Amino acid sequence: MSTSFQPAKPANGALVQISSTEELIRRRLEAERARLEKQYGLQHKQAHHFHKPVERVFTKAERGTTTLLFGGLTWKHEKLVHASFEGLGYNTEVIPTPDVAAFQLGKEYGNNGQCNPTYFTVGNLVQYLQRLEEKGLSKKEIIDRYIFLTAGACGPCRFGMYEAEYRLALRNSGFDGFRVILFQQSGGLNQADLEAGLEMNLDFFLGMLNGLNIGDLVNEVAHIIRPYEVNAGETDAVLEEVMDYLHSVIKRKRPWQLNGGTWSSFIRKAGLAPTAEYLGRFLSQLFANEYLPHLEHVRERFNSIKVDRTRVKPIVKITGEFWAQTTEGDGNFNMFQFLHKEGAEMLVEPIGTWIMYMLHQAVQATKDHRGLDKDMQLPSRWELAKRLAIQRSYYKKLGMLKFAEAVFRREYHRIKDGLGGVAHGLTDQYELQRLGHPYYNSRAGGGEAHLEVAKNIYYTNKEICHMVLSLKPFGCMPSTQSDGAQSAVVAHYKDMIFLPIETSGEGEVNAHSRVQMALGEAKVKAKREFAEAVASSGYTLEEIKAFVEKHDCLQRPMYRVPKRKGVIGSGANFILHVAELMKTGATPRPGGVAAAH
Ligand code: SF4
Repeated sequence: MSTSFQPAKPANGALVQISSTEELIRRRLEAERARLEKQYGLQHKQAHHFHKPVERVFTKAERGTTTLLFGGLTWKHEKLVHASFEGLGYNTEVIPTPDVAAFQLGKEYGNNGQCNPTYFTVGNLVQYLQRLEEKGLSKKEIIDRYIFLTAGACGPCRFGMYEAEYRLALRNSGFDGFRVILFQQSGGLNQADLEAGLEMNLDFFLGMLNGLNIGDLVNEVAHIIRPYEVNAGETDAVLEEVMDYLHSVIKRKRPWQLNGGTWSSFIRKAGLAPTAEYLGRFLSQLFANEYLPHLEHVRERFNSIKVDRTRVKPIVKITGEFWAQTTEGDGNFNMFQFLHKEGAEMLVEPIGTWIMYMLHQAVQATKDHRGLDKDMQLPSRWELAKRLAIQRSYYKKLGMLKFAEAVFRREYHRIKDGLGGVAHGLTDQYELQRLGHPYYNSRAGGGEAHLEVAKNIYYTNKEICHMVLSLKPFGCMPSTQSDGAQSAVVAHYKDMIFLPIETSGEGEVNAHSRVQMALGEAKVKAKREFAEAVASSGYTLEEIKAFVEKHDCLQRPMYRVPKRKGVIGSGANFILHVAELMKTGATPRPGGVAAAH
């Protein structure tokens, strides 16, 4: 091949004016590729790239005949979010927790090389639609009458590809044209959707916030009680009952509105009704305490369960990738059921941590990008007004984010207290950043980013768990990175029991066996601690049990036991607390003392 830059000479012999060197190179490459393909008998295949289809808009007129599908959380969160959507007037159905069959459908209809949650969730939607078809609906009816609402983002991990994966799998499985509405990880739904059938207004967000927060805390309370229940299955029975109760409470809730009084008429006449109602709804969320009596009812129902806290249970903190640590099925090898059967107490991760993480990252990005806005020119020193405007805009944005953090935290903790205060509070994101950053750059986003490392250190160092179990999906990019960093963490924190488990559609037996081994170590740790607590109490276990037997409130889950420094297990802390009551002659009161979470 000649290396001098000569005008290209096409097959018809006509000379073509080459306008640039790049164009010349491109043509020569094409010619050389064609020559080589011909020489080796290869056919140049045309690539057919996937393009996002232009979808029909979901209009307000369709709301009565269209069902919104969603899923991907625990059944508790889904049930309450479902109630909130229904209360706002949407027909909604929850897609059940994905199983291995859904995973296989995801593999069949999706791209190769995706992470595990992509296969499970994408396949789960296809499976759901296929079941609708089996029930007698035609493909056209399904496409016209159902819509899928899901989370999405622009990356940097494969989360950015979810939307495209859903659409591709839907097309491959014969549901081309099925509408997928993306609830962006940041920024909410786009404007086109907002003006259509889904109104992403304050009511929608408050409904989501309450549903997710109550779901988080009810779920955690049930996990705290279940290992100690005296009558097997009682916690789950109460849980089912209170979830039905909360569903009806949330579904009945109506947004705050101006009433028919004089002030309301005046506000309406002044054209201020939309602003007043917006403010009224926000303030009513903050100060009306509407949910508190219902949370009290739930608390009392949970408190009716009899517990025995003289049992020795290792506490296992569940961390890992967002979906893998949340799902309650084949997606994480049914790990919650398995750990319960193996005698562990679980500390599950609330979705609230993830929301706080996103807010925290937004605060961090605002600080990092200060003065770096696109096309921004720094005004000269004497242009004080312009300089002040830049400062004002920065502090306004930062202030809004900090306000959102404070509001979210406050709302979460109000529900926690309403449910008896036995659940843990939200972990401080600034502390997590401080702990995780030396091992994993906290500016590196994607998945749980530095949180996986930070939570491992936090829960071990603060003596909140005996063991950390990290559930990481097969093919997860951020988890693979943090696995590398975890080896340094484990080397620095010698007493840590940390087990990362890679979850996939197969290999459940192997994963369970690895968990059993690590749990064995955690059990030894918990038993030793319990034995030391009994030995140092000055009483025998039988004497302590006899005292507990005489006081009903000590057999109730809403009795809060103070946590002692250096003592992790619920059983060991309980023994030390009861021994103190016995020594001092104090009478235990219902509710116990404030736990130090
Ligand atoms: S965090 Fe991991 S598992 Fe989750 S979407 Fe990203 S790459 Fe996939």
